[in-house]
Amino acid sequence: MNIIELLNDGVVLGDGGYLIELERRGYVDSGSGREKVGTGRGSGQFTPEAAIENPDALRGLHREFLRAGSRVLQALTFFGTREKLSRAGYGEQTEAINHAAVRIAKEVAGDEALVAGSVSRTQLFEREGPSAAGLARELLGEQIRLLQEAGVDFLILETFFRLDEMLIALECARSSGLPAVATMSFRPLVTKSSDDRTPAECARAMADAGAIAVGANCEQEPGRMIPLLREMRGAVKVPLAAQPAAFRTTDSCHSFTRQPAFPDDLETIQVSRREFEEFGKVARAEGIRYAGGCCGANAAYIRALGDGLAGARA
Ligand SMILES: [Zn+2]
Repeated sequence: MNIIELLNDGVVLGDGGYLIELERRGYVDSGSGREKVGTGRGSGQFTPEAAIENPDALRGLHREFLRAGSRVLQALTFFGTREKLSRAGYGEQTEAINHAAVRIAKEVAGDEALVAGSVSRTQLFEREGPSAAGLARELLGEQIRLLQEAGVDFLILETFFRLDEMLIALECARSSGLPAVATMSFRPLVTKSSDDRTPAECARAMADAGAIAVGANCEQEPGRMIPLLREMRGAVKVPLAAQPAAFRTTDSCHSFTRQPAFPDDLETIQVSRREFEEFGKVARAEGIRYAGGCCGANAAYIRALGDGLAGARA
């Protein structure tokens, strides 16, 4: 089945978060011990060079998610644009990293799961403002071409803070012809994107731009994310996608990456896997048809989410 058929078939169980889990296992440098980032290899950029530096670690994590029931494996291509990889000293390996990440995910998936290419924000808008649109389009377009060459089944455009940059990514996805799931990350509060658009406005714009499913990922635990998903559900007819983080946020800051515990004390704000099981139980009723996890959600959380989805069906 392709992704569109899977979405029509029931709630698709996705996978969980890769970079935080690989950081915990010692394959990604959180960068917290450095004064500056972006000056050399492994500089705490949360870039995906593990695909070429530690392919066995990545392969193992994919296997864990597949065993937990994931129907989709996300290739570890998050932050894999040439500009972002350059900041970690890996710009020249842009092709190699994107291709290797997809190859590894496909090897593990076999015919048991689909493989999605993960594409995220360039961060150029945060640094340079909307004048960076042209360069962002070039970089996102290049990465999407690499993912397509490597044979991904579809794209997950994720962790975009600004709607304007997400719409550029959707434009690049449309030119490629690959189906795209589009999820924004809302911070510091779930009420607005970084360019000041409500979740409902974001959902409508992403659906109008051709996304096959729209929603949110990262930053919040399931309980905090549900109200924003409800707002999106009221605005669109396309399926909702949700990949929450597994970290507890607070009423004044709905963003785990802005909590003092990020990045080295995350264990102190970890939510239990039970919250993902509960999320699975309500997902269908909330209109969610693609459910997975993001940062902090390892295979145990995805298994619990799958149990919740199965429990809701019974
Ligand atoms: Zn995340």
